[in-house]
Amino acid sequence: MNRYLMKIYKNRLLSLTITRSLTTSRRLENIPYTSDRYPHLKRGDFAILQDYDIEAFKKILTNSGQILSSKDEDLSGYNTDWLKTVRGKSDLVLRPKSAEEISKILGYCNERKIAVSVQGGNTGLVGGSVPVFDEVILSTERMNRIINFDAFSGVLTCESGCILEKLDEYAREFDYIIPYDLGAKGSCQIGGNVSTNAGGLRLLRYGSLHGSILGLEAVLANGEIIDCLSTLRKDNTGYDLKQLFIGSEGNLGVVTKVSILCAKQPKSVNVALLGCPDYKSVLETLDVAKGKLGEILSAFEYMDSTAMEMVRQNLGLQCPLDKYPFYCLIETSGSNASHDEEKLNTFLNNALDGGFAADGVLATEPSKVNSLWQLRERIADRGSSPKASMAYDFSLSVRLFDELTQILRRRLGNLVSSVSGFGHLGDGNIHLTVELEWENSKEVQELLEPFIFEWVAEKKGSISAEHGLGTQKNKHINLSKSKTAVDLMERLKDHMDPKGILNPYKTLP
Ligand SMILES: Cc1cc2nc3c(=O)[nH]c(=O)nc-3n(C[C@H](O)[C@H](O)[C@H](O)COP(=O)(O)OP(=O)(O)OC[C@H]3O[C@@H](n4cnc5c(N)ncnc54)[C@H](O)[C@@H]3O)c2cc1C
Repeated sequence: MNRYLMKIYKNRLLSLTITRSLTTSRRLENIPYTSDRYPHLKRGDFAILQDYDIEAFKKILTNSGQILSSKDEDLSGYNTDWLKTVRGKSDLVLRPKSAEEISKILGYCNERKIAVSVQGGNTGLVGGSVPVFDEVILSTERMNRIINFDAFSGVLTCESGCILEKLDEYAREFDYIIPYDLGAKGSCQIGGNVSTNAGGLRLLRYGSLHGSILGLEAVLANGEIIDCLSTLRKDNTGYDLKQLFIGSEGNLGVVTKVSILCAKQPKSVNVALLGCPDYKSVLETLDVAKGKLGEILSAFEYMDSTAMEMVRQNLGLQCPLDKYPFYCLIETSGSNASHDEEKLNTFLNNALDGGFAADGVLATEPSKVNSLWQLRERIADRGSSPKASMAYDFSLSVRLFDELTQILRRRLGNLVSSVSGFGHLGDGNIHLTVELEWENSKEVQELLEPFIFEWVAEKKGSISAEHGLGTQKNKHINLSKSKTAVDLMERLKDHMDPKGILNPYKTLP
């Protein structure tokens, strides 16, 4: 074991910040319209935007830059998803600064039956954040005020457009951290995270947002503002309505404010990257980590050699280990460095002596810890790669992760450049990324869907562990939820948004 990382990485630390302009290597004409990619989607009976609608919006949003129109601006960044797999045809982006402005906008849209596509940081991976046809885009990017931080309880209250990374930096000033982390933290917003019930890299330690979000405020389709902005950990008075908005992908309301329980900043953080000879050893390493690291284990991620090769090729990041079929990235977070070190040493000795890990590096210094994390966090970031990519995320028995990856490799063969398997192994959540030439997109999609969803369902997994359904998977919801459950979801949607103006064509079939 190379005890301290001596290597100076070629790439300096970079958190992922997504620009809204498209790189020339992924030219706009390559990216299919959502309605072409998913031909079963038909435009609903919504009003066509008129000049007098824009005049009405101008009376609500009076500051400069709050309304962007395709007549004056290039809106392709707002219309196109992060993966560049789908794009809509919206001519208008509205950028309100408050819940009251959103309330007036939605009240008007509901009256006129104008469809709305809700957008946070636009890092979603299932096409949920961009319009399908000509929906008006309602962006929360200007709602980025931190309202309060209680440094004793650790409860942070903020507007929904705050960027995750900025919130984390803010919390750290008070010796706290935001209790989840994603590779998209430089761009994604807390409102988007709540609406997708984002899981991320530390769910293993801090649990899901259903637990750490204490309260929220949301605006319903008719403009009504619902105040559930509690800051209490326990509150059993009536239905816990905030849970309805967590993970409902903007289908039931626009989240405008959030209160979140932050975790105390760990005093000692260590990250180990281990190289494993086969997938069985990856599972053995997980088992040993759970047993030997116990309460200080804060993340357990894995990636196969193809995923590691992708970060090297697309981003130029260098792995400090030799080439292995699999890698495990293990993080510990604790409050006592020597106690953690003792546990970590026992774990590493067990993993190395047992032959599960063939080699590894350990980082304790923050910059080195971050450098190792980059190798895992940025797998989905394709840099300037000119290729197309498709991403899937499933909850599945961890025993089946590599089997699924191999099945896809055999099924897709030479039609694709690569299939990489990686993900939050400690949470039973696999990610699969397929890289391919643009011209093969349709054929590959037909080979993958619904095959891959049906395979996962047959193995009693979920077709979405954390990214949600969006337009990519909504018609397959029945593979993961019972008919009665989907019926109730549809009744709730009808009740809360009877004209169906919020994020139509998404999430529900
Ligand atoms: C490199 C990378 C790594 C990622 N890693 C992870 C990961 O580890 N775990 C994970 O769960 N996801 C991950 N994602 C996916 C994505 O970042 C998350 O889904 C994130 O929570 C989306 O936040 P956003 O602000 O970008 O929302 P958007 O992409 O803008 O929107 C996502 C959905 O939420 C809705 N929405 C957004 N804001 C609001 C709001 N205020 N009110 C109501 N609805 C709203 C949108 O309509 C859409 O349906 C990753 C993405 C990338 C690009």
